[in-house]
Amino acid sequence: MARYTDAVCRLCRREGQKLFLKGDRCYSDKCAIARREYAPGQHGQGRKKVSEYGLQLREKQKVKRFYGVLESQFAHYFELASKKSGIVGENLLTICESRLDNVCYRAGFALSRAEARQLVRHGHFTVNGKKVNIPSYLISEGDVIAVADKSKNLPKIKAVLESTEGKTVPSWLELDAQAHSVKVQNLAKREDIDYEVNETLIVELYSK
Ligand code: SF4
Repeated sequence: MARYTDAVCRLCRREGQKLFLKGDRCYSDKCAIARREYAPGQHGQGRKKVSEYGLQLREKQKVKRFYGVLESQFAHYFELASKKSGIVGENLLTICESRLDNVCYRAGFALSRAEARQLVRHGHFTVNGKKVNIPSYLISEGDVIAVADKSKNLPKIKAVLESTEGKTVPSWLELDAQAHSVKVQNLAKREDIDYEVNETLIVELYSK
């Protein structure tokens, strides 16, 4: 499946916000947002009047980039969100949070969503005891996501688990640190979203 492979710090600078795409570096003073808090490119520092459509588009791009989702999949998520009961924008964020790669990252099984995506693809995680290697797999309430037994002693996985030890896991996930697993207590709700986002703008964009 296609994915974005260009310099990711540019994406944060474009959105004017940390999207935490590079693991440890995002928390250090090497973060590009901390050093150059203006949009990339020749006109990045110019003053710009942004239209309402521009704001809506930027908000959609930001969420797509945060979760590493491309356009067609994001449009599919919007369709799913529209069919569910409740507030469409909130449903959309819940769906994005429910991706297996995001859950593995949130659980501390990877240093970034991009790394989580790669580890999922390589079959290092199970859902309810069965190997799942699809990063976009949507988890459900009650699911148990774990590092596969055969992967626990791999140097790469051990290094990740050591460096994320003690990391705070969102309240919708229950961590079993010994077993390197998390149980999904409930799907993420709006109040669990920990970055700045105005999902209403995205709904307005798709409703045009
Ligand atoms: Fe974004 Fe992380 Fe790069 Fe900072 S270091 S600009 S948060 S990807």
